[in-house]
Amino acid sequence: MGPNRTKPYRLAAREARPHRTVIDVKGVQVGGPGLVVIAGPCSVESEAQLFETARAVRAAGAHILRGGAFKPRTSPYDFRGLGKAGLELLAEAGRLTGMPIVTEVLSERHVDLVARYSDILQVGCRNMDNYALLEAVAETGKPVLLKRGMAAKIREWLLAAEYILARGNDRVILCERGIRTFDDEYYRNLLDINAIITARLESHLPIIADPSHGTGRTGLVTRAALAAVAAGADGLMLEVHPNPAAALSDGFQSLTPAEFGNLMAELRALCQAIGRPLGPELGTRAGGVA
Ligand code: PEP
Ligand code: MN
Repeated sequence: MGPNRTKPYRLAAREARPHRTVIDVKGVQVGGPGLVVIAGPCSVESEAQLFETARAVRAAGAHILRGGAFKPRTSPYDFRGLGKAGLELLAEAGRLTGMPIVTEVLSERHVDLVARYSDILQVGCRNMDNYALLEAVAETGKPVLLKRGMAAKIREWLLAAEYILARGNDRVILCERGIRTFDDEYYRNLLDINAIITARLESHLPIIADPSHGTGRTGLVTRAALAAVAAGADGLMLEVHPNPAAALSDGFQSLTPAEFGNLMAELRALCQAIGRPLGPELGTRAGGVA
């Protein structure tokens, strides 16, 4: 896609709007001046695991709580999430800590159910080109976090966003979560920094980076997160677990609460250096603290 060719994603294109899109999620501005941090476990496993994680990430400065209740798993025999019970726990953890929540909607069948609980609907990388699902999530009117497919071109990703916009929902948050690559010996995916830069150039939509899936290894997450922010990401999505070794999914890429705290400290320093504030600090928003 050369710079002079007409863009096929008419509504998602940078030129479609005079300003970058800012999405308000219960008082948290995504795509505004402040960097937004979304954190929580890969999967909601239990009340104790979720609440401990939620309190820890909130205390360290996270703005939005994540957690999977319907999990896409490569093997049907792996843990596939708590379903509705997981949504109820997430909503409760969000209330207790004053954080909006985001969770994945795996199937068109679950759109209404997930939309009853979640403040943001996540479309996972395996569903980026499930056009019926994209239209169904669009119709809820809720913000949609659209992950890039693991082998999707930027154009395909922006056209997937276009499906949601064209259905009358302009609250789309793009999420770069790493692409498949040839060297999977040292990491699982390759966080595509070029994609973050390009998404900002091509589109007015906010873009967040997921260095947990984007690297697939705990030891790489913090530096990849900083790189994504330096490249212009509007926020981060991070997997955190109180005991990663015992996690039912993605423990190998999850940070402990202490590691997450260290990442937040490094992020604050980077934010100062690049002149971009971190989003609202703990206790400054309505909703209170656990
Ligand atoms: C997740 O966020 O836990 C997830 C399954 O993400 P992805 O769709 O990027 O693999
Ligand atoms: Mn995960």
